[in-house]
Amino acid sequence: MKMKGWKELAIGGRIEEAGNAVEYETGSWRTFRPVRDDEKCIHCLQCWISCPDSAIKVKDGKVVDIDLNHCKGCGICAEVCPPKVHAIEMVEEAEFVKKESK
Ligand code: SF4
Ligand code: SF4
Repeated sequence: MKMKGWKELAIGGRIEEAGNAVEYETGSWRTFRPVRDDEKCIHCLQCWISCPDSAIKVKDGKVVDIDLNHCKGCGICAEVCPPKVHAIEMVEEAEFVKKESK
């Protein structure tokens, strides 16, 4: 198979300026939502350092929130949360839709 030359390739998307990810709300991509239990959380910040979307919000060295407008629901935070702590559970988004429609 002959590879296409660069002039034959379709024009793709372009990022005009760096650091603009915050403008794109990716929360609607999610099928699972991370739910953090503040009672269990030991604020080790493993989730914060591992989240690819910088969606774990920290204030004064403690996790305070999860930015659901940008969280894609990858589940990495739940995976890295220490097993003995297990402060983050991934819950199907459909569960929240059911609750909101009641
Ligand atoms: S599910 Fe993924 S994107 Fe969402 S807060 Fe956890 S690590 Fe970040
Ligand atoms: S990884 Fe778990 S225990 Fe550590 S800060 Fe995040 S939610 Fe809390």
